[in-house]
Amino acid sequence: MPDYDIVIRGGRIVTAAEVFTADLAIRGGTIAAIGHDLGKGREEIDATGRLVLPGGIDPHCHIEEVGADGSVQEESFVSGSRAALAGGTTSFICFKPQWRGQTLAQSAPDYETRAARSLADYSFHQVITDPTPKVLATEIPALAARGIRSLKVFLTYDPLRLTDGDFLKVLASARRLGLLVTVHCENFDAIAWQQEALLAAGLTDPVHHAWARPPVVEREATLRAMALAELVDQPLQIFHVSCGEVAEEIARAKARGQKVWAETCTHYLTHGVDDLERPDFEGAKFVCSPALRDRSEAARLWEAIRAGTIDIVSSDHCGFSFATAKKDPGASSYGQGAAMLRPDGTPAFNAIPNGAPGIENRLTVLFSEGVSTGRIDLPTFVRLTSANAAERYGLGGRKGTLMPGADADVVLWDPELERTITVGEMQHAIDYTPWEGYRARGWPVLTIRRGEIVMRDGVLLAQPGSGRFLARGPYAAIAPRGVVPNGFDTVGRGSGQT
Ligand SMILES: [Zn+2]
Repeated sequence: MPDYDIVIRGGRIVTAAEVFTADLAIRGGTIAAIGHDLGKGREEIDATGRLVLPGGIDPHCHIEEVGADGSVQEESFVSGSRAALAGGTTSFICFKPQWRGQTLAQSAPDYETRAARSLADYSFHQVITDPTPKVLATEIPALAARGIRSLKVFLTYDPLRLTDGDFLKVLASARRLGLLVTVHCENFDAIAWQQEALLAAGLTDPVHHAWARPPVVEREATLRAMALAELVDQPLQIFHVSCGEVAEEIARAKARGQKVWAETCTHYLTHGVDDLERPDFEGAKFVCSPALRDRSEAARLWEAIRAGTIDIVSSDHCGFSFATAKKDPGASSYGQGAAMLRPDGTPAFNAIPNGAPGIENRLTVLFSEGVSTGRIDLPTFVRLTSANAAERYGLGGRKGTLMPGADADVVLWDPELERTITVGEMQHAIDYTPWEGYRARGWPVLTIRRGEIVMRDGVLLAQPGSGRFLARGPYAAIAPRGVVPNGFDTVGRGSGQT
């Protein structure tokens, strides 16, 4: 009779804090023991020469999003979660929509049913685009009670964006209920104004997407978002920081003691605005927001990562194929202004759907760029890919860590394995990858999700529906500081002391 379901022997175990050689035993879906001379497992895995990592958590990805018009993005929960597991990510957080003029309940009522087909564990950020009294007073509290503990707001994109006044209402509601607010920071009016001028001048190429939204529009909105969050004393997560000057503002807010955190995404570390100039409209593959920046910005993002200003790297995975969505002027785009056709029938830059796929490549690319080149050490890699997301989003103790009692989400990683990324060998449903031809060093060879071997040597073994919804309870990391201007607590209507 074996003592354990699985024992992984002799690997180098990596946590957010340390690296050591030991065996890791799994029983009943959780980690049962870490140590030496552990008892027998029903399945014995030799991990000599391999790293043993916590399963990745991708806290920012767009999966099977349903549009207000009922259209559904190509990347389904089945294909998207297969891609996640193939790349060493065992949990992700995606976005539950709200459309203006609708309640949360009315917007994509089948979204959770769709998500239940996932092979990876999952949770949701609730997008808020229309914070009506009913949404604020009843729907957001009900959401929190069901374990959805993070809200997402957009300061740009029509019709998603919030005014500053509505943003304040969401921040205050989140503070009262103990939710984290996440935010897409770009100045809507500045972008619209730039776009109008570019289109009027006949500048319609994919690269003009970046011209319309230079770093200053991201920096201004980031500063404003942080200022409004400071006014309300509500912790804030800044999404997809693309460049050094934005990271500098965040570092300043942190230095003042504000509870503000930031992520960047893999593509900002490896790609640049020159990718938007690729011929044959291929620049459209790299249209995402914030836009790709000058190549020199990647070094500044690494600096911000090393300084701890940016402490999560997400994928911002988006399911838009090149042939069927990026080139389709009728595709849902979160665009701004009327869609315009170019002479060859391709859409003008402002009508190209924003976003690129990345959930499958996130760990591999970050490992290659970060660990294999010596920019970061292994514990930092774990913090960026899982441990900090677990702590930030209320999954601490369960996910993002290797210790007895935690979910047995484990990735065996070959740090020396070199492979070339090519879309034909990938699991995602999208017809391209931004990293086509990228030579990666470091690759996941086995993924375990809650004690089940779900990927072995690139072969997916899990069944649709085997992923679980991750309900998140209240958690300490996002408690307000109790510091409000003038001592008057706008939210609590009393003293600032809490
Ligand atoms: Zn996004």
